[in-house]
Amino acid sequence: MMTRVLIVEDEKKIARLVETYLEREGYRIFVAYDGEVALDIIGREQLDLIVLDLMLPGVSGYEICEYVRQKSTIPIIMLTAKTDEDQRVKGFNMGADDYVIKPFSPKELVARIKAVLRRSSKNESILSSDDQAVELNVDTHRTTVNSNNLQITPTEFRILETFLRNKQRVYSRSELAERAFGWDYESYEETIYVHVKNLRKKISQHTSKQYIHTVYGVGYRWDDDVK
Ligand code: CA
Repeated sequence: MMTRVLIVEDEKKIARLVETYLEREGYRIFVAYDGEVALDIIGREQLDLIVLDLMLPGVSGYEICEYVRQKSTIPIIMLTAKTDEDQRVKGFNMGADDYVIKPFSPKELVARIKAVLRRSSKNESILSSDDQAVELNVDTHRTTVNSNNLQITPTEFRILETFLRNKQRVYSRSELAERAFGWDYESYEETIYVHVKNLRKKISQHTSKQYIHTVYGVGYRWDDDVK
């Protein structure tokens, strides 16, 4: 999916310049010249990042920051004046993720945006084992073991995702069936055994470590630390 960025900046020249550069990166851009419009877009659109000028007429950048943080962790990069360190401190206290000092080079802003997006997508869409050897991207479904691509079925993917979201938790076959197929049905419980076995086999092609452990009489558990 296209990355969606909101630019909140009352200086139209700066807003347009930033817009041009970010469009070149292939982002979908929304622009707000004041706080009211910004809040309207924030309420309506699914955004991936906000570039936020702190000094706005009407609703200020701080207020927008505060509003956004009440309900989401969407990354915010603030634009601040060179001289005003208090602005930056206040912005960070309100929950901004990074800042760029005006006047700035659009290239620098793009680099900051990419870095912040990498950090936030790492948090949200990449799940991994504690030793980082097994990685799963929830968005792209790309799954790797020690950087080797794993060809896994959608069912195996959902089982692996379940394990990685709650490491060390013991799952019964019926719980795994519910997560993998959407409901718990006895004959599906039986096939979970096969799916887990296949998943183990595929993972073991690229590591000697055993991650999925059988808990006798109960089900399965993901554990990095057991040798
Ligand atoms: Ca301004």
